[in-house]
Amino acid sequence: MELLEKTAVEQHKALVNKEVSAVELTKASIERIEKLDKTLGAFNSVTCDMALETAKKVDEKISKGETIPMLAGIPTALKDNMNAIGTKTTCSSKILENFVSPYDATITTKLKENLVPILGKTNLDEFAMGSSNENSAFKIVRNPYNLNKVPGGSSGGSAASVSSSEVTLSLGSDTGGSIRLPASFCGIYGFKPTYGRVSRYGLVAFASSLDQIGPFGKCVEDITYLYEAIAGHDTKDSTSLDMEVGNISGNLKKDIKGLKIGVIKELMTEGVADDVKASVENAVKTYEKMGAVIKEISLPLLKHSIGVYYIVATAEASSNLARFDGVRYGYRAQNCENLLEMYCKSRAEGFGPEVKRRIMLGTYALSSGYYDAYYKKAQQLRRLIADDFVKAFKEVDIMVSPTCPTTAFDLNSKANNPLEMYLTDIATISSNLVGAPALSMPIGFDKEKMPIGLQIIAKNLDEATLLQSAYALEQELNVYNSRPEL
Ligand code: GLN
Repeated sequence: MELLEKTAVEQHKALVNKEVSAVELTKASIERIEKLDKTLGAFNSVTCDMALETAKKVDEKISKGETIPMLAGIPTALKDNMNAIGTKTTCSSKILENFVSPYDATITTKLKENLVPILGKTNLDEFAMGSSNENSAFKIVRNPYNLNKVPGGSSGGSAASVSSSEVTLSLGSDTGGSIRLPASFCGIYGFKPTYGRVSRYGLVAFASSLDQIGPFGKCVEDITYLYEAIAGHDTKDSTSLDMEVGNISGNLKKDIKGLKIGVIKELMTEGVADDVKASVENAVKTYEKMGAVIKEISLPLLKHSIGVYYIVATAEASSNLARFDGVRYGYRAQNCENLLEMYCKSRAEGFGPEVKRRIMLGTYALSSGYYDAYYKKAQQLRRLIADDFVKAFKEVDIMVSPTCPTTAFDLNSKANNPLEMYLTDIATISSNLVGAPALSMPIGFDKEKMPIGLQIIAKNLDEATLLQSAYALEQELNVYNSRPEL
């Protein structure tokens, strides 16, 4: 197998055994990006010098016989809404097109401490708002499995870059499914930790009560190591949890006999594509064979999650995005007569249509006279959805469902129908509303050879069980290694 197609764990071994140097690995990654990315569109910017500098440090350590961290030298990309000093952080928006980060996000600092070469910043839906990556102000991202299909969004570039082996690992952000959906569509692993596990200092905020950063990779071990590298308390993020992350990678191989698994009833009914349903059923049967106990579980309020989300998320976005006013950051409209005109024109010219739609929806939901009817009601329902989760987790250890009712759809097929686009997130949104950790893993392919993802959700803070159960299933199904030729 080609070196770049290997997992991070395998590449680590190759580095330590001196089969390849970190500089060679980084150069190979840069070459592959140069070769593929004109077509894929996964990267907004490539940071060769920064990556090579880090790779050199790794090689120095290896040549001195020093031990290196697990992810040292492994080619990695950041979603372009995460700050890394001296790089452009555009959020795929015109309003930040020329914004250069004056500081590092905490995840960036942690990656640097682990000597992880950062290869560049990946394309996304503008300000992480979208499910197909078609809302980027710069360019679309194509799905590596079929270039006429979407990669999923909003972290489409992060998913496509790993799926196509341009890089081995990447980070995304997940507010309503933006890690899990593209992971599912691109046939890789994507993991949203419990709300508060990973510091968001230096992540450009979309909806602060929902946003969480998490890893993409080619196997469960890889996403676990990357999670461990970035998780933990951070005084710079007031929502960061001051709790032990624990040794999850060391306990991945735990036997799952007796594990209680709930299949979410509401996500296995109408609207789920036949191939997707069959693959999920096969995964559930595989679990049963391994000794897990399967149960149907109901989340009766799940049907309201999209409605709740599009009020809470847009309300928070409308206030988070108020800072982009042409004064402090980014784009400023020219030839304005006065301050108000400058605000209005800068925002009108700088933001794309989906972002404007969200700002207007959110401002409306928060406005006096409507606040109780929309925002307050949404928060109440959010509480009740959380109660449903608590009830369900009294009966089971993890819950499973399709990550999305369908596989990746054709480019342009939903771009003009926001409501239909919003519905793709039906399975993923509720974990954000309640803060629960959840992941998507590849479990098969449909008739068109497009990847199918299984979503696994665990109790808040129980990343250990989540990743153990994904690991156990991965060993049985071994889907990633049987993927069709790209
Ligand atoms: N697709 C959802 C949205 O458009 C989720 C986005 C996300 O998780 N960042 O808001």
